[in-house]
Amino acid sequence: MSVSIPAFASGRKQLLIDGKFRDAVSGKAFETRNPATGELLATVAEGDAADIDLAVAAARRAFEGPWSKAKPYDRQRILLRFADLVERHIEELLTLDTLDMGAVLAMSLGGRGRIPSMIRYYAGMAQALTGDTIPNSAAAEIFTYTTREPVGVVGAIIPWNGPIGMAIWKLGPVIATGCTAVFKPAEDTPLTALRLGELLLEAGLPEGVVNIVPGYGATAGAALAAHMDVDKVSFTGSQVTGQKIVQASAGNLKRLSLELGGKSPDIVFADADLDWAVPGAAMAAFANCGQVCTAGTRLFVERKIFDEFTHRVAEFGNSLKIGNGLDPDTKIGPLVSQKQLERVTGYMEIGKQEGAKALSGGHRVTDGELAKGFFVKPTVFTDVNADMRIAREEIFGPVISAMPFDDIEEVIRGANATQFGLGSGVWTRDVGKAHRMAKAIRAGVVWVNCYNVADPAVPFGGYKMSGYGRESGRAQFDDYLNEKSVWIRTA
Ligand code: NDP
Repeated sequence: MSVSIPAFASGRKQLLIDGKFRDAVSGKAFETRNPATGELLATVAEGDAADIDLAVAAARRAFEGPWSKAKPYDRQRILLRFADLVERHIEELLTLDTLDMGAVLAMSLGGRGRIPSMIRYYAGMAQALTGDTIPNSAAAEIFTYTTREPVGVVGAIIPWNGPIGMAIWKLGPVIATGCTAVFKPAEDTPLTALRLGELLLEAGLPEGVVNIVPGYGATAGAALAAHMDVDKVSFTGSQVTGQKIVQASAGNLKRLSLELGGKSPDIVFADADLDWAVPGAAMAAFANCGQVCTAGTRLFVERKIFDEFTHRVAEFGNSLKIGNGLDPDTKIGPLVSQKQLERVTGYMEIGKQEGAKALSGGHRVTDGELAKGFFVKPTVFTDVNADMRIAREEIFGPVISAMPFDDIEEVIRGANATQFGLGSGVWTRDVGKAHRMAKAIRAGVVWVNCYNVADPAVPFGGYKMSGYGRESGRAQFDDYLNEKSVWIRTA
C-alpha cells in the first residue's frame, strides 16, 4: 500500500461560513497534530461565539431563502454528486482521518465503499420522506393529512473518534430533509470535515446550507448549543457534555438528539464458536484503539471457559501490531491525544490499584518511534468485580474488564447493571438463548455472533445515559422534521 499524503493535511485552514472559507473573527488559530508522531499537521482557524453567530445567521438565511424551495430531487441530486466526489477522493479523506486521529488506514480502506454508500442512502431518503392521509372520526366532511417539514437550523457537534463517518451521519439527514447546519467538528480532528465542506460546495450545495466551524467545545460548542436561533442540536460525545447541552438547549427548548457514551457488555456463552468469538470479542474492544462508543469493554464469560477464553483474547491482543495507522501492517493505531493517553493509562493504573490483574497490556508503548505518539497496549483485566471503576466507567481505550458468570439470569443482571445502554454482544450457538438475551439486554443495539456492524438503514442509538434519538434508520429523520397536521373542511 503506497500512501500519498494529502496536501490538505498541512497549511492554514479556515472556517466555512456562507459558502466562503474565512478566518475566525478573533483572528485566532489552533494547531492540529498527528497523534502517531506528534508532528504538526495544519493550523486551523479557531471559531468561537462570534463565528457561530455568523454561521447561524448564514444557515438561517439559506433555510429561509432558495434552499427552502429546493425540491426533494434537487437535494437528492446534490447528495448523489457529493457521494461521487467522496468516492473519487476516498483515499485522501480516509488518509486525513488517519493523520488527524490515528485511524488504521488499511482497515478503513478495506471498507472504503461504506461512506459513499451512506451518502447515497441519504440521497434515496430525500425522495422518500412523506406525510400521511389519516381518516379522522371527528367530522365526515373534514379531510386530514400530515406534512413533514424540516425543523430549520441544526447545530451538529461531533467527537474525534470517527471524523468522516460521524460527519456524514449528521450532514446526510440535514441535506436530505432540507434543514441547514452549523457543524462543529472536534478540535482534535477538524481536517476531514473541512475537506468535506469543499466537496459539498463542489457538489453544488448552495452557500450557507452547511457551515463548518472548528473550535473548542467550551466556546464554539457551547455557543452553538445555547444559540437562540438554532432549532435542533444533534450531538455525539460524552454524557457529561450531553448533560451540558441539555441545559444549554433550555433557552429556546431546541430539539435534541444525543448519542453518548457506553460501557457495553459482551457476553460469551460456553456453547459459542470460540474460534470466531475470540477475535470477535477482542476487536469489539480493541478496534480503533478502543475509541468506539459501543466498544464491548465489559466481557462476561461463562465460568467453565473463562480462563481459556480470556487467555486467548489476551494472546490475540498481543498479536496485533501497534503502530502508525499509515503502516499497512498496523492493527492498533495511537490514541488521539496526550489527554486521551493520560486518561487511558490513568484507568490502567486505577485497575491495578483496585486489585484487577492485567493478563495482557496495562501500559503505554514507547518502543522506538512509538515513543513520539500516544500508543497503548491492548489490555485484558481479570479479577475484576462489578464495583470497580474499570468495570463501571467509560475508558475509551483498548481495555477489557473480564468477569465470569454461572447462569443466564446472573449475566442479564450484570449486563444491565450500568448507567449506559448503547451496544451489547452475545456469542452463542443456541438460537433460543440469543433471542432471550436480545430481549433482556437494555441497550439500543444487540449484536449476536458479530460486533459493531452498522448500516445507515438500521437504527443506532442509546438507552439510559447513552442518550436519546437515533442515527440511521427511518426514526433518524423524525428528529430533523416537524410533523404538521392539516384539517380541511370540504363541505
Ligand atoms: P466530548 O463530549 O468531550 O466532546 C464531543 C464534542 O463536544 C466535541 O466537539 C467537543 O469539543 C464538544 N464540546 C465539549 N464541550 C462542549 C460544550 N460545553 N458544549 C458544546 N460542545 C462541547 O467527548 P469526546 O470528544 O471526549 O469524545 C468521546 C466521547 O464521545 C465518549 O464518551 C464516547 O462514548 C462518545 N461517543 C459517542 C458516540 C455515539 O454514537 N454514541 C460515538 C462516538 C463517541 P472539543 O473538541 O473542543 O472538545
